[in-house]
Parts: sequence; C-alpha cells; structure tokens
Amino acid sequence: MGQLRRNEIPAYPRNYELWYTYCAGFNHALNKAVNDILRARGRISLEEVNGVYGQFLAPSRLGDRIEEVGGKISDEINEVVGAVEKTIIATSRYCESLNGATNSLAQATERAQVVSIAKELIEATRQTEATNRVLEAQLADSRSQIADLQQSLDAIRYESLTDELTTLANRKHFDQSIERAVVNAEEANDSFSLLITDIDHFKNFNDTFGHQTGDQVLRLVGLAVKQNVKGQDIACRYGGEEFAIILPRTTLDHARTVADHIRVAVMSKELVKRSTGENLGYITISVGVSTWQAGDTVQSVIERADSALYLAKRTGRNRVCTERDLEIAERRKDTGRVA
Ligand code: GH3
Ligand code: MG
Ligand code: MG
Repeated sequence: MGQLRRNEIPAYPRNYELWYTYCAGFNHALNKAVNDILRARGRISLEEVNGVYGQFLAPSRLGDRIEEVGGKISDEINEVVGAVEKTIIATSRYCESLNGATNSLAQATERAQVVSIAKELIEATRQTEATNRVLEAQLADSRSQIADLQQSLDAIRYESLTDELTTLANRKHFDQSIERAVVNAEEANDSFSLLITDIDHFKNFNDTFGHQTGDQVLRLVGLAVKQNVKGQDIACRYGGEEFAIILPRTTLDHARTVADHIRVAVMSKELVKRSTGENLGYITISVGVSTWQAGDTVQSVIERADSALYLAKRTGRNRVCTERDLEIAERRKDTGRVA
C-alpha cells in the first residue's frame, strides 16, 4: 500500500497484485525490473507499472490467455461463416443464371443468341469457381489456425495443472487425480497408495539461507520425487513444501519402499549454492503413507497419510511412517506405552 501511495498509483486490483507480488518476493525477475526503475529514477510511473505487469504477470494469467484464444476461435468461426454465406449467395446466383439460360435457350432461334447464352454461362461458371476457390483457401487457412489454437489450449491446460516452480502437477491436479483414484478404487477395486512428504525444519533453512535458496531446494526435492516415481504415478506439489504422490495399484509395503527411496535421495544430496559455492549442508524429509481401503473417502485416505507424516515428525523426522505404524502407535498408547 505504501508503494502505491508513494508512487501515486491507483489501488486497482492489478496494481495491487503487482505490489503484492513485489513484496512477497517470489517473482525475482519482476522485483529486479521494478528495482532497476526505482534505482534509476527514485519512483515508478503508472505507465511503467503497466509495462512490468504486462511483461511479468499478464502472460501468466491463464484467464486472460483463455479469453484471447476464445476470441480468436470466435473470429475464425465468423470468417468461415462469412465465407460460406458468400458462397451460398454466389451458388444461388449461379442457379438463377442456369435457370435463366434454360429459358433463353428454349426461345433462342438464332446461332448468335445461343453463342451469347453460352458465353454468359461460361462467365457465371468461372465466377462460381473463383468464389469456391476463395472458400477453399479460407477453410484451409482456418483449419491450420484452429490447429494452432488447439495447441495453445493444450498448453494452457497443461500450465493450469502444473506447478511452476517444480514442474510437477499442482494441487488442482492432485485434487482431481485423487478424486478419480478413489472412484476407480471403489468401482474396479483398484487400490492405490498415497505418500505425503514434508521437508524437515524448512523454516529454519529459509531463515538461515533465504527464501530464494529455499525455492531452489524445493526444486531439488521435486526432482528427487520425480526421479523415484514412474509410469502412472502422479507426483504433485501439495502445498508450500509438501509433495503428495498417488501410486496406483501399489501396496502399502511397496509404497513405503518408494517413499524411502525418495527420502534417501533427498538426504544424500549435499546442497551447494551455485552462485557462491557456499556449502549449505543437507536437508531431510519425513513421509506419511496410506493405502486405500474399502469405505475410504478422499478425506479419510489423506488424513491417514497426514497422521502418519506427523507420527514420522514426532518420532524423529527423516523417517517414513505408514498407517500401519499409526495403528501400532495407537495400540501402544492404549496399553500405556510411549510410541
Ligand atoms: P517441520 O520439520 O515440523 O516440518 O518444520 P518446518 O519448519 O518445515 O515446519 P513446516 O512444515 O510448518 O514449514 C513450513 C515452512 O516452509 C514455512 C516456510 O518457511 C517454508 N515454505 C513453505 N512454502 C515455501 C515455498 O514455496 N518456498 C520456500 N522457500 N519456503 C516455503
Ligand atoms: Mg509443512
Ligand atoms: Mg516442514
């Protein structure tokens, strides 16, 4: 709000969005562009704000891009409809010429009259041919434009389901996928397992090395996840520093093995800051694992993975705990022993 006031920028939602992004500090290119302007002139104009918005925020606004593609498709359809209408008019004119010629021919008595009618017919046929050629070209052009637009829509759809930082599937994709997995499990008795991972003491890491370096670590954990799942597995960024992986047709024991591979991959990686060569040590993750059981809902299967994750946190971190470990811990609690 201070920046808006200081620079006399109207507090419209998009201007607010720009300064919100700036203050949050997670769009480094945007911050650099704004800082360069502020450093050079001490203030930023509305025009410059619009420029920065257009360069760094507008392209990622899926809503705007969908609207743009929708507009282009509608333009293409209008052009095709226009061309078809012109062709219909030309064809009906041609029919009229043919009917006219039929009548004239019936009444023609001299050779010269027949020749003139034939000339008119040839001319009308040529014009119709030309109109048809324009329509054909228009249709071919539209077909290729629509194929391009289809690709744009595919890209938009991909982006709308992808997490930008890690390029894994995003939360929306996860929500859709787990919904589908539960329906599949109910209908085809096709069970699945779920892993939820959470980085240990990540707040400390961010506080020590900065959010930007934290983001690079998130990418690295994302990579470790990606490299240890395969085929039909669906790996998603579930929240800030949490990942969720749906493993179709995978038992609890197999899922635990996958979780452990990811855990070991993360803890084995010595972190070195690329820009300075500074050694940042190691990070670890904890993982909770659940498996779909008859009667489970989306919520209940997530809750068990979540509880198993917190059991892993409580019992020392850098660990994998499953819903079976939860049951054991519960039983121990019931018999008075500490988990
Ligand atoms: P714990 O071992 O109990 O998980 O400790 P923790 O500090 O990791 O606690 P928690 O899981 O609650 O961590 C949340 C922290 O993760 C807060 C924030 O510093 C960091 N974080 C969340 N999202 C992001 C992100 O997108 N980027 C970065 N760099 N850090 C994030
Ligand atoms: Mg967390
Ligand atoms: Mg954490």
